[in-house]
Amino acid sequence: MSDVLPLQFIKGVGARRAEVLAKEGLTTPSDVLLFVPRGYIDRSAVPSIAALQESMRVPDLWVGSADILTRVISEVAFVATVVSVREQTLGRGRKVLKASISDGSGTVASLMFWSYTEYYKRTLKVGDSYVVSGRPDYDSKWNQLTFHHPELEHIDEAQQEEFRSGIILPNYRLTQGMRNAGITIRLLRNIVAEVLERTLPDIVDPLPAYLIKKFSFVEKALAFRLLHFPSSLSDVDAGRKRMKFEELFFFELMLATRHAKRREKRSGPVFAPRSARARALVDQLPFELTAAQRRVIHEIVQDMSGGVPMNRLLQGDVGSGKTIVALLCMLNAVDNGHQALLMAPTEILAEQHVNTIRALAQDHDVKVVQLVGGMTKKQRDAALREIASGDAQIVIGTHALFEATVEYRNLGLIVIDEQHRFGVAQRAELRRLGMNSLDGGVTPHILVMSATPIPRTLSMTLYGDLDVSVIDELPKHRKPIETHIVFESKLDRVLLFVREQVALGRQAYIVYPLVEKSDKVLLKSAIDHHQKFQDEVFPDLKVGLLHGQMKWIEKETIMRAFLKREYDVLVATTVIEVGIDVPNATVMLIENAERFGLAQLHQLRGRVGRGAEQSYCFLATKDHFRYATSSKGSEDERAACVVRLKTMEETTDGFKIAEADLSIRGPGDLLGTRQSGLPEFRFANLVTDGPIIEQARDEAFALIARDPGLKQPEHTRSREALVEIFEGGTTFMTVA
Ligand code: ADP
Ligand code: MG
Repeated sequence: MSDVLPLQFIKGVGARRAEVLAKEGLTTPSDVLLFVPRGYIDRSAVPSIAALQESMRVPDLWVGSADILTRVISEVAFVATVVSVREQTLGRGRKVLKASISDGSGTVASLMFWSYTEYYKRTLKVGDSYVVSGRPDYDSKWNQLTFHHPELEHIDEAQQEEFRSGIILPNYRLTQGMRNAGITIRLLRNIVAEVLERTLPDIVDPLPAYLIKKFSFVEKALAFRLLHFPSSLSDVDAGRKRMKFEELFFFELMLATRHAKRREKRSGPVFAPRSARARALVDQLPFELTAAQRRVIHEIVQDMSGGVPMNRLLQGDVGSGKTIVALLCMLNAVDNGHQALLMAPTEILAEQHVNTIRALAQDHDVKVVQLVGGMTKKQRDAALREIASGDAQIVIGTHALFEATVEYRNLGLIVIDEQHRFGVAQRAELRRLGMNSLDGGVTPHILVMSATPIPRTLSMTLYGDLDVSVIDELPKHRKPIETHIVFESKLDRVLLFVREQVALGRQAYIVYPLVEKSDKVLLKSAIDHHQKFQDEVFPDLKVGLLHGQMKWIEKETIMRAFLKREYDVLVATTVIEVGIDVPNATVMLIENAERFGLAQLHQLRGRVGRGAEQSYCFLATKDHFRYATSSKGSEDERAACVVRLKTMEETTDGFKIAEADLSIRGPGDLLGTRQSGLPEFRFANLVTDGPIIEQARDEAFALIARDPGLKQPEHTRSREALVEIFEGGTTFMTVA
């Protein structure tokens, strides 16, 4: 590595500051160009402290729609002047620095600093003005806003002048290290200006010219100028829009290229689209397939007929009827002389699939074999023999299906059910399985079924190189589940309601979350809970217990008994989250509902509403969650909890729920792991940039369809940028 840092030669930088900048990731001129302000302060659009305070004054979060609540948890920025700075010493000599600031709107806000107090004591001066950004806490008792460790940017005289004359101020992300080294916004602006002067003439625009024209984008060089030195917020918008598009476009170009490469392979089995068994089964069903089911079946069957190995995601909300779709597609494989495989996430669900599918397939001459981890050696050996000989035409099981000891015969289709937390790791595993193809170089078709609807923006990115089919319609005559939030002090009414429903011949689930301390504590708490319901609440009813520590055979027995109405009420942990179908169950009571995530609540609720009767879901939560301003728990937690529960109450639409989940948790978290394989985008926001993602995707896929290798001369720059991204790896933004 060279020890010369190019930035050090800029006026006001020098070796020491250049080193600090390098530590923060600013080494080269292009690092500087990409270091765009995190926000802008526009005098005409800045909220006053008084207005912010008023908007936070929501006495009861449970009144009103869930939408308005999201603002409670977002960041704000404004400009104000320090009126006083006081240091307080707390217990054990801990110090806190408290500053009051005013913007002349008639009220003041407090800034609290719990660390670096010396630094802030030195720098915060009464009478000086600052850009303050952060997430406010609202104190209802004093009707006051408090910011803990907000971002602070000093505004000097000249800037105040600019600000008064309406010029907007950039809000760069300054770190403590930068501040300590005396790096100010002013200096950063000088550095940026210098870098812009030197590099702008050499910046090549990697976006194809026809797209710049089509969307009236600004050229890349201008975009940088607008982002760093805007003269209005519409400048900022123009710059951002273009950068977001570019970033997403190259990401989608990469996916489109990968997709096209995958489609070049012709190693998949070719299935004739007609299937006598499937046809006969459809004629025999007690219901009509929905239009959406017919459409996705057509898409899947077409995809399996062309010789390209299918790699498809089937999305459909809970109860949308994915099982029958999977079965019809597997029958298509069977009629073409191939084995089909269905993998479920749990043994109970695998078992239920076996029962459902055996019942449906019994008149159609299909051998269905089960393979799960909990089988005896004898059962397992028998299953393995039938699978290896090809007698087994449909194989259903759990992860045990993917063990190396299982030998398939002419495997043509793999269906994976309920993979709502399907990460990149598993996809890689699957691809490997596909590659180790078991019969003379044939790669089986893969269909992944997801019960939790994934917002479109995510399926276009995370699952971007998969083909996607969506069942966006529930079977007719299904009544939406009525959902109510109940506070624990009113729980008796719900328990009374459970009784009424049981008296009508229905059944109920009572679900409660477990805090995972240890297996033993967990087990005891489940057992105690059940005991309480059986002995004290419903002594005259039959109350069953289902929990995660049970052996699969026990769970199986309990579930089967519940299905046969041997229990009126089933007390359960979240093991029932996936897939057990008991049409007679009409009530779902979820205790401590605030502890569950939205996706999980939606899955749990999906256990009822499976029959013809009206179903109900009650989300029980602690009384103190009623008030946003309660002293228990953090404000963010409470706000997020309220948004979740209210969203559940407002809608049963899984896509809407997924969107809400995405906006509360962010994309990485939504998928269960931080390592979801999503790249970090510098400009694009997967939560809010849906329309741009869609545009970028359409354009990228269209371009690759026209010019797969980007060989035409007008696409040369795009190709070079793409190569750089593929090789560089982490960012989808290049600065030539
Ligand atoms: P999921 O998509 O959640 O896996 P299932 O496949 O378990 O949904 O289907 C839920 C229920 O709906 C099952 O009892 C199934 O038999 C029934 N079902 C599926 N398709 C239809 C349809 N077109 N009309 C009526 N009921 C249907
Ligand atoms: Mg299912």
